[in-house]
Amino acid sequence: MARESLKSKRERALVVCDRMAQHYPDPKPQLEFGGDPFRLAIAVLLSAQTTDAAVNKVTPILWERYPAIADLAAAELADVEDILHSLGFFRSKAKNCIGCAQMILGDFDGQVPRDIDELQKLPGIGRKSANIVTSIAFGDVCGIAVDTHVFRIAHRLGFSSAKDPSGTERDLLKIIPPERWGGVNIRWILFGRALCTAQRPQCDQCFLADVCPEGKRLQK
Ligand code: SF4
Repeated sequence: MARESLKSKRERALVVCDRMAQHYPDPKPQLEFGGDPFRLAIAVLLSAQTTDAAVNKVTPILWERYPAIADLAAAELADVEDILHSLGFFRSKAKNCIGCAQMILGDFDGQVPRDIDELQKLPGIGRKSANIVTSIAFGDVCGIAVDTHVFRIAHRLGFSSAKDPSGTERDLLKIIPPERWGGVNIRWILFGRALCTAQRPQCDQCFLADVCPEGKRLQK
């Protein structure tokens, strides 16, 4: 099959963004954080390899026990592990939560940094998590958070063949205009759960089937 030009990919990407916006006009983050950037950073850190619903069950207990950043910074590791034990990788997550709180107090004057590079210095916060925190907490959209759903959908749509999330993000940033980056993660997660699921994509009901090479192939 002939290689698709960048221009053609950009045109398809705009159609995808428009239709996603029509289907998910006002998407809300699933993680509960009460509008507090620190609580969002911790919730995002905890959400690695687990569902937002599972995180939303433990964070109220965490905040009741450690309401302020300083409380969490001074927490006993075993106590935090106990609160997080229902989550995968709870030991490393507990360590990172405390480390995050300590670094924010020690290095950032008690404020979650707005800068995406500084955010990534926090333990447990990688590029994807930093993208989510900057865009949801501060409204600064610096990129596209590529999680498992965004990664899968980008590949099925033929927008990327990169092997990792950072390469996939680079490919998406080339074809999606910056003013559209902000809605990608939340909308594509909803779409990935409802239609373009990992195991059984619902191509026959998909509103992107006419612009999706993988959908056309799967329907044959
Ligand atoms: Fe996913 Fe199928 Fe829709 Fe393509 S047509 S985006 S593979 S559900």
